Amino acid sequence: METVRYNYRLRPGAVATRALLEEWGRCRWLWNEAVHQQRSKRKPTFCKLSRQMTDARARSVWLRAGSQVAQQQMLRTYSVALDRSFKVKGCGRPVLKRRKRCRPSLEYTVRGFSIQEGRLRLPHGVSIPVVWSRDLLSDPTSVRVFQDSLGHWYASFVVSREDTAVGPETDGAVGIDWGVATTATADAAYDLPFGGHRKRCQAELAKAQRRMARRRRPRGQKPSKGYADAKRQAARLQKKAARQNTVAASVWAAQVVAANDVIGVEDFQAKFLAKSKNMARKAADAAIGATKRELIARGRRAGRKVVLVPPAYTTMTCSECLARAKRRMELGERTFRCEFCGYTAERDRNSARLVLALARKSLATVELDRASADGVRHFLAPFEGASVVLPDLEIPPGFSRREQLSRLLRRPGSPAQVVQ
Ligand SMILES: [Zn+2]
Repeated sequence: METVRYNYRLRPGAVATRALLEEWGRCRWLWNEAVHQQRSKRKPTFCKLSRQMTDARARSVWLRAGSQVAQQQMLRTYSVALDRSFKVKGCGRPVLKRRKRCRPSLEYTVRGFSIQEGRLRLPHGVSIPVVWSRDLLSDPTSVRVFQDSLGHWYASFVVSREDTAVGPETDGAVGIDWGVATTATADAAYDLPFGGHRKRCQAELAKAQRRMARRRRPRGQKPSKGYADAKRQAARLQKKAARQNTVAASVWAAQVVAANDVIGVEDFQAKFLAKSKNMARKAADAAIGATKRELIARGRRAGRKVVLVPPAYTTMTCSECLARAKRRMELGERTFRCEFCGYTAERDRNSARLVLALARKSLATVELDRASADGVRHFLAPFEGASVVLPDLEIPPGFSRREQLSRLLRRPGSPAQVVQ
């Protein structure tokens, strides 16, 4: 059995919408209170916070008017976030939820919701029609009710389902190299071209944003209707592009997973491109991190061998003889030519082949728990037999040999083994 989320659109009326927003206000206040306690070194544990909440509810009519389940879940989410911030590297402490920055999101456990006559019933008589776009597979164990950037409400139910997704065995194998010109290079049959969905609506988006800027009122004044319209238009355009990216990624990932047993994935860190000067926008448009996550999730579900390969030197190494070139390739150079065996291929194609070759050699596993944008961590065991000793270990210009060695030593699974 696996636990998954099934999302449905909600269509709350004016009364239900107001109730949800008021509930969100109360939960947000509790969260911010916990953040204040943490900042003033009062060590807010879940136990302590719950006790304080019970006391506060006894005193305050305002808090009591809301659902205890939703409020308690908010505190639970807070303590999970706080706990994670101490344990997971790169994960910051929970911050204040500001009214204008955060979108409403409420969680209810079975004690706090029910489904009656096709409607979602929440505490204090809130009843919301649900658009049942597909059947719920089992009785949901919890639901998260949230609003998106367009102001639409959704319910995300947690259900369990059978592991039926395991695909039939194939003898295909594929290596994936991420890039900006082509989002993913694999075999010619499985390339994912750059969609440019955000670029296509760039002019229209800029227009909406200019309209927002013109109609923005000074601080403290209620925003005008025209401003709200322009804001919704901008959000709609951005949402559309994001959805196009999501669909493209999932269709592509499904194809790759269906046809291949071994999937080598370059463990590309999207944040490095996001910091670059010239390619940040295009890299963000390509949504490499999300595409990679989708591919890995689908591969794991289908029981495929998914291997994350460290991205170091993938463009400089020959996929035929695994020799590494003596110098880094410039971005403009599109053809790779091996100095040792003469193998010539398109630059990205060579990288993709190399990723596959390394994936076949390694004993890597994938673990989904990292605080970075793509949420994936890899553990690479050393390569089998350490037979991948490269004929040359040249030092790229600008690095001393010592720096170079220490860099390699820090990566136990990097394609090159250190030769003293
Ligand atoms: Zn070669």
